[in-house]
Amino acid sequence: MSSPSSPAESAAAVATADGPRDFIRQIVREDLAAGKHVAIHTRFPPEPNGYLHIGHAKAICLSFGIAREFNGWCNLRLDDTNPGKEDPEFVQGIKDDVRWLGYDWHNLRHASDYFDVFYRAALKLIGDGLAYVDDLSAEEMRAYRGTLTEPGRNSPHRGRSIEENLDLFRRMRAGEFADGSRTLRAKIDMAAGNINLRDPALYRIRKVTHQNTGDAWPIYPMYDFAHALSDAMEGITHSLCTLEFEDHRPLYDWCVDKVDLPSHPELWQSVVAAGLEAKPAKPRQIEFSRLNLSYCITSKRKLAQLVNEGFVDGWDDPRMNTLRGLRRRGFTAAGIRLLIERVGVSKQNSVIDYAIFENCVREDLDATAPRRMAVLDPLKLVITNLPEGHAETLVFANHPKDEGFGTREVPFARELWIEREDFAEVPPKGWKRLVPGGEVRLRGVGIVKCDKVLKDADGNVAGLHCTLDPESRAGLPGADRKVKGTIHWVSAAHAVAAEVRLYDRLFNVPAPDAEADGRPWTAHINPDAKRVVQGWIEPAAAQAEPEQRCQFERLGYFVADRVDHRVDAPVFNRVVTLRDTWAAKA
Ligand code: ATP
Ligand code: MG
Repeated sequence: MSSPSSPAESAAAVATADGPRDFIRQIVREDLAAGKHVAIHTRFPPEPNGYLHIGHAKAICLSFGIAREFNGWCNLRLDDTNPGKEDPEFVQGIKDDVRWLGYDWHNLRHASDYFDVFYRAALKLIGDGLAYVDDLSAEEMRAYRGTLTEPGRNSPHRGRSIEENLDLFRRMRAGEFADGSRTLRAKIDMAAGNINLRDPALYRIRKVTHQNTGDAWPIYPMYDFAHALSDAMEGITHSLCTLEFEDHRPLYDWCVDKVDLPSHPELWQSVVAAGLEAKPAKPRQIEFSRLNLSYCITSKRKLAQLVNEGFVDGWDDPRMNTLRGLRRRGFTAAGIRLLIERVGVSKQNSVIDYAIFENCVREDLDATAPRRMAVLDPLKLVITNLPEGHAETLVFANHPKDEGFGTREVPFARELWIEREDFAEVPPKGWKRLVPGGEVRLRGVGIVKCDKVLKDADGNVAGLHCTLDPESRAGLPGADRKVKGTIHWVSAAHAVAAEVRLYDRLFNVPAPDAEADGRPWTAHINPDAKRVVQGWIEPAAAQAEPEQRCQFERLGYFVADRVDHRVDAPVFNRVVTLRDTWAAKA
């Protein structure tokens, strides 16, 4: 009998399985094969100062995805070291969005869970002669820092004794000093080629109430210090982040090494006392390139500006490329994961064409969305050779390629709505749809011939009178008779009025924030990104649950709005058209 495999063995087994094989996964595979870790542990560390966007999806899929593929763990850690800008609303939003994308965390942590650890670690560094309290103002500090070509200068306070530093730092913590009047700095090297190592700040004074710790702390740790130690606290093995942190890696390693949490349990007794899992270790930071998508903004500051200045209706506006905006728009989590998989992981910076994203979503929806019929710009078509009051129930397949979707009943009657653009009095070349005197197939019904065009007082087309070829009805021998076009329809008496929101890309240029033409990025907002029409949908479509998606045949993929849709007052959002309509414009 074989004994159950150890976590390391099972992780190594997964490591050989099929799946993405980028450079990060290769490192993980090698580390596991070398027995470096019993299991791998990653984390996703967003700052709760906004909602997550499509760029974050890459970081989420990578860190949570790798943990899953290699039988490891991934923590969700809220990097809440910046009180004032952060909000519990965003914390909840981040949790919802990570779950919606299809992931769950091993531990939910906040950087603020470790405030006591950071403070003790800072005291340790001071005691080891590796940190000092500086009185320089922010401006003076900048002047002392030097430039890329010139070394910095030592602060006049750099030579303070350990005792004086300990006393001053304790008094900073006690709230004795004003905001900005003092900083705790790492004592590394003011002449270092890497500016991040020129005595970076570790702590600043900020008398701001914190969403978790209230007024307990008048000082807050800086990102690099808090992030490195949080990773170490949680036993993170592979700390995956974007390329802009590459230059911070030496500082990250410095913090991890100099504090040395694994050897100093006295620094993290508060975490143990709080009952939180603590398994300090030495993490390794690995950087990868950000996801940049054309026609998108992925700066939280700018996304917030869109909301705050009323360019959109909120963080979940379907035009926003926040995860909740994409969700409300009807994009699927599977479609987003497919994009991330296709884009892959590397250190190469690039911009991904938004059309690739749309295609991933189309691919997912083609397989998963049932078909329905809807008419968005209605024109009345009367079948004059059916008796007044004629009504039948037709049975339609819900999916052309998958019988598993079953069938539905579609009411058919003498008066129908068809799409206005499916009729042309003077057809352009190559026209396949209805013309005066011409024939077209009504989807699932048979062939109709246009006998008469009705006009209103202004001479606009107001309706069509047609005859249905009875021999061409579905199931009869004449049903195979060839005509050029097939159009969709709904029964006028049975269709349900629906509000249909036709969304498109929020920006009308591929790189809205390049500001290359001297115009602000907000000047590139596409005024046609939202158009609301009143349409007619078949009864089965109205029955959708909020967030249920379908294809309205020939029109695109749509979703029942997750906030506003009701069965008796349907509201649908267009997710994406059936084909790329932007390629020709570009
Ligand atoms: P800001 O817009 O305020 O700079 P941020 O994008 O850095 O915010 P964080 O909340 O700090 O937002 O991000 C959490 C994690 O998501 C970070 O580790 C970051 O590297 C990653 N991330 C952010 N944007 C992208 C992106 N476009 N592609 C891939 N990963 C990203
Ligand atoms: Mg950040």
